[in-house]
Amino acid sequence: MSGELLLSVDFEDWHQLVRRRVGASNWREPGPALERQTETMLALFDELGARCTFFILGMAARAHPKLVARVVESGHEIACHGDAHLPVFTQSPDEFAADVRSACATIEELTGRRPIGYRAPAFSITRGTPWAHEVLAEQGFGYDASEHDSPILRDRQGAGERGARRLPNMRLWELPVAAARWRSVSLPLGGASYWALTPTPLILGGLRHVPPDGGLYLHPHELDPEPLRPLLNRGEGAKTRAKAWLRTVQRNAARRRSVDVLREIAARHPLITYGEAHARLSSVAASVPTRSNSTTCTRTNDRSYGCCARGCSVAGSSPSTRWRRWISPACSTSAAVRGGSASSYSRPERRDMSGSISPSR
Ligand SMILES: [Zn+2]
Repeated sequence: MSGELLLSVDFEDWHQLVRRRVGASNWREPGPALERQTETMLALFDELGARCTFFILGMAARAHPKLVARVVESGHEIACHGDAHLPVFTQSPDEFAADVRSACATIEELTGRRPIGYRAPAFSITRGTPWAHEVLAEQGFGYDASEHDSPILRDRQGAGERGARRLPNMRLWELPVAAARWRSVSLPLGGASYWALTPTPLILGGLRHVPPDGGLYLHPHELDPEPLRPLLNRGEGAKTRAKAWLRTVQRNAARRRSVDVLREIAARHPLITYGEAHARLSSVAASVPTRSNSTTCTRTNDRSYGCCARGCSVAGSSPSTRWRRWISPACSTSAAVRGGSASSYSRPERRDMSGSISPSR
């Protein structure tokens, strides 16, 4: 078995989103397919013996409260995907904070749990939104999973950075989507929408070389056993219908491959939740003794363990040698860890898969 990967679903209603995107008037209506998609996902994850992190979209949760309950009953982790699925870079800090608060209120009302994990719609925390992580930290989140080193994402944060890490000067961890690098070229491997275009041997080979704790993400519609149809109202115009048709063709292509590729990945990598990885990384960081000035990260000037984009947090998280490939030579913290605490790492017992914290926190 190769290294662990973090399994996630962005839990959203494809019909709601595609109707809104093409300007259809009935976009708020709950779509007809999320129930069968959810049951398919839950059955597949049971078959694979994997627990998953569900990043719940607030507006989808309000339209499908019983499905959120099904996910919780099945033992998966509940996290937050925002409320209205608007790109973070189109919002002000106050608007973003309100969107996250609204989603958390919905999730907490439906599940009794407050999520500690967040993923931005379309990975839209960018270099232009440096305040977003502070908003998440202020609202009590423990980790963000919005970093995706994909060439098609504009102004992406963390482009060229590597692996899971604690963000400088805050308790928030960043747990990025799995991506391999060849020289300066990034190969995104963690998203099912990319699996539609990437040969399976390349996906499997590349995942052996991603930094530890790489994230995988799927959408419910990518696991739909039936073809997707946007089901617009009869009065919609030709332009709206054409846009919806194009989007449907794209999504059906991804849908056809996702299950088989995930089975192949699960045969080679243990799949765990983001909450489990976050608990392990936090535990390792907390167990590291106070360090001297000589262990300050020379790249970020941050003495907090896990500060370095390449090495610090990752170094302490794995006993294997594979992480060494990803250590930045500029980081003296990594050099210190290399000789010490990495070898003392032991994986904690599995804990509550919900990854939730008490509402009062
Ligand atoms: Zn989304």
